[in-house]
Amino acid sequence: ARIRVMELDSSPDVSFDQIGGLAEQIEEVREAVEYPLTRPEIFLQVGVEPPKGILLHGSPGTGKTLIAKAVAHEAKATFIRMSGSELVHKFIGEGAQLVRELFTLARERAPSIIFIDEIDAVGSIRTNDGTSGSAEVQRTMMQLLAEMDGFNNRGDVRIMAATNRVDMLDPALLRPGRFDRVIEIPLPDKGSRRSILSIHSRNMTLSNVDIDLLAEMTETFTGAELQSVCREAGMMAVRKKASAIEQQDFIAAIRKIRTDPATDERMFT
Ligand code: ATP
Repeated sequence: ARIRVMELDSSPDVSFDQIGGLAEQIEEVREAVEYPLTRPEIFLQVGVEPPKGILLHGSPGTGKTLIAKAVAHEAKATFIRMSGSELVHKFIGEGAQLVRELFTLARERAPSIIFIDEIDAVGSIRTNDGTSGSAEVQRTMMQLLAEMDGFNNRGDVRIMAATNRVDMLDPALLRPGRFDRVIEIPLPDKGSRRSILSIHSRNMTLSNVDIDLLAEMTETFTGAELQSVCREAGMMAVRKKASAIEQQDFIAAIRKIRTDPATDERMFT
């Protein structure tokens, strides 16, 4: 059962050309995660310590996992993903032990990149809900901090985390020597939406589709939602037994995704 909480990929099949927009953020992540693995001598030569932990924050579906996987691919590093919320909700009583195993595994499979998704589930500021879970969650976080403190920045294990609630994070996690590099992953602007739509329709047969107009119509959409738009537009064409996807299919797909309760919830909270 523990396998589920840790996903291991010896070199994820994601490259930078599958990511639309985010050029600056990708460069920042490469400097902080990839170059310390692939060109450690530069850091030594210049005399600068790479950051210890890199935290990506932004709305769900904006490409945080995608960037982490692409960097692992580029660095030819093992990618080990652990979900903070699964860790505390599915494995009650085992959190601290799992964190220990995570770091052991990362050292065994080095060079490697640890990616802790939804880290806020493990390291939120103490809520006063008084649930019995919180002492256990606290223990899990203490273990994570201990692992990070005893960890060499110049080694061949890099650590990343992601959250969409950076405001909720326990400041202990953000101290120097912990997640000391914080990178915001924003919603895509129009140009980025255009490239994300192009990426996800790359293998589709399109007929007179105006991507620029579609990008204009999809303000506030995340990368994940733009991917859904492409998939949904494709399904519309399939249903009509058409041989190509037309502009109107995309427009219908945008309407459908826009009224999805998940989108609404995100847009109004
Ligand atoms: P979560 O917080 O929900 O884990 P996330 O930010 O990690 O979200 P991803 O898992 O990286 O989001 O994105 C989900 C999917 O959406 C990706 O697999 C990809 O297909 C698509 N996607 C998201 N952002 C982009 C982007 N910038 N370019 C291309 N595709 C994207």
